[in-house]
Formats: sequence, structure tokens, C-alpha cells
Amino acid sequence: MFDNKEKTNIEQLGEFGLIDHLTKNIKITQKSTLKGIGDDAAVLDFEGKKVLVSTDMLLEGIHFDLAYTPLKHLGYKAVQVNLSDIYAMNGTASQVTVSIGLSSRFPLEAIEELYEGIYLACEKYNVDLIGGDTTSSKQGLTISVTAIGYADEKDIVYRNGAHEGDLICVSGDLGGAYTGLQLLEREKLIFLENPNIQPDLEGKDYIVERQLKPEARRDIVELLKSIEVKPTAMIDISDGLASEILHICRQSDKGCNLYEDKIPLDPMTYETAREFNLDPTICALSGGEDYELLFTVKQADYDKIKFKMDITIIGYITEPAAGCNLITKAGNVHPLKAQGWNAFPPAP
Ligand code: ADP
Ligand code: MG
Repeated sequence: MFDNKEKTNIEQLGEFGLIDHLTKNIKITQKSTLKGIGDDAAVLDFEGKKVLVSTDMLLEGIHFDLAYTPLKHLGYKAVQVNLSDIYAMNGTASQVTVSIGLSSRFPLEAIEELYEGIYLACEKYNVDLIGGDTTSSKQGLTISVTAIGYADEKDIVYRNGAHEGDLICVSGDLGGAYTGLQLLEREKLIFLENPNIQPDLEGKDYIVERQLKPEARRDIVELLKSIEVKPTAMIDISDGLASEILHICRQSDKGCNLYEDKIPLDPMTYETAREFNLDPTICALSGGEDYELLFTVKQADYDKIKFKMDITIIGYITEPAAGCNLITKAGNVHPLKAQGWNAFPPAP
């Protein structure tokens, strides 16, 4: 949590003073940005490309807990989760708008930290901050980001394009963000019971970062482009693998077989899940917030992706009548459910 030592009351600055203070150093980098902050609307020109737009809102107490979320990370994550949606359309992200609702408990320094994270994400992913809105709230912090991007019409990948026989692929590894959250929640409870005990997150950096500082997979979109593979369907994993593959199958009117032993898990995710008596597979299926890309490709593309380190083939698309199934390590067939927590018992 931010400390309130030398705080500057936002009311001293006023709304326009605050906006000006937060945005005065912006440098526009995208040629599609004709006008950014400062007028009644931003002006963009995509020169014949299709425009992609996606919004996500994060509410304090629902989507984040400031007891263990540094504001800089929160700003960074708020941008990442939106860029992830643009990449999931196989597009290039180019602009964001950021709207915030602030209660009086936030001093200027806290909002500066939030914007440090926002600007870091913008810089790293080469997107312009082109506007937003600032309001006061009675309680808590709200942050809403809209991401804008573009793509040639022929490159856009929807959720509904999967065909029978297509390979189901996922980037990175899954379940880390959820196990990281379990760890942060546990340490918070311990701290609340005894504030003298400092959080013990030793050796758990990877999964804590997966929760607090996700990275949208622009690199995967670029990799696929470079090897000339256009996915037939794609979605980003915000709600867990099970829910996302069900979206693809439902919208494509297909079924699927996923193989439990193929689901990529980091060893730290695996160990931590077991520590919490959770089934690591369930963490991947239902945990969410991994912001990896889940996509399907034609079988003919198999040779192009089979040795790609950061892409794992976890199953294939079937005819719709076969349903959506998980084939467990023991060879049992379980119908996939969006919230699979009680679908099958923890591994022994
Ligand atoms: P309006 O009254 O027309 O809504 P505002 O005074 O809210 O305009 O905003 C002035 C300018 O500052 C606009 O370009 C707006 O997009 C931008 N802006 C407002 N709040 C934010 C914010 N939190 N982050 C970035 N830009 C902002
Ligand atoms: Mg406004």
C-alpha cells in the first residue's frame, strides 16, 4: 500500500490541474494518432485498416485489493488486460484511453504511481495514451481502460473460425496467476492477524508476478505472423482455459478434446497449488487471469509450430456432437465446465 507521508491533496490541484499534471509529458508515437489529449475528442486515422476497440473496468474490492497490489502494478495490469484483447483479435494495439474514479483517500502521489505503471505499459507496448476521464468517487478506486488497435481485414481472427481437426494451442503456461493470488491472499490474512509478521513470498516471484504484473502476448502474435500461421480462432485467457475453449467451441459450433497431461504448468504453479491442496489442473482450467493466448490452427501448420518453445498443443477440435472434453492423465473423459472446481476430485 502507498504510504501517506508527504501527500498532496488532489483537491488542491482540481480536476484540470490533475489531468494536466498526469499527462503533460506525453509523447505521441503512433502515426495513426492525429490528436491525443487536449480537445473534446482524440482524432485517429487508420488509413483503410479495420479498427479494433475493447474496454475493461477494474473495481477496487472486486478486481484488485490494494492491501497487496502496488498502484504501479495496477496501472500496468489495467493496460495489459486491454492490450491482450486486441492481440487476441490478431491485431496491433496502438492507443489507450484511461478513466479513473478516485475517492479523497488517494493523494496525488498515489495517482502518480498508478500512472507510472500505465506509462510503462504504454511505452513497452508502443501505444499512445490519447484520453480518458477523471471523476471523484465516494469510495474506492475505479480504473477503466479502452484499448484501440488495427488490423487488415484478412488478418483478423475471431472466436468462431475453428474447424474439425484443428489443433488447439496455448501460449506460455497456465494457472500461475491464480496460485499467485492464493499466496497473496494467505499472506494478507496472516498480516491482518499479526502485523509483525512480514509477508513470506520468498522464491515465489514468478507466480506473484503472474498475478500482479501480467504481460499481454504481443510476441506470440508477431511470432505467428513471422512463421506465416494465421490461427483459425483465437481468444485470450482471462477467465481460465475451460471457459475460453468453451467460447471458441460454442461460437465455432464444434467440440474439443483437451489432454490434461499437455496443459503447460510452471513447476512453481504446480508446487504452490499442491501446498494449497488445489489440483494444479483445475487452477489452469478455472483460475484465470493468465492473459495467455488460446488459439486453433490447421493441422497443415503443425510442422511450423511443433518446436516453438512457448506454444503448446493441448488438444484438437472435434465435431460438435462429441462435446467438449478433458481427457485426464488416467485416461478418463470429463465434460469441460466453465467453473470446473467441483468437476472432479483433487489428485491424490
Ligand atoms: P471533457 O470535459 O470534454 O470530458 P475533460 O476535462 O474530462 O474533457 O478532459 C480533458 C482532456 O483530458 C481530454 O482530452 C480527456 O480525454 C483527457 N483526460 C481526462 N481525464 C484523463 C485521464 N484520467 N487520463 C488521461 N487523459 C484524461
Ligand atoms: Mg471528461
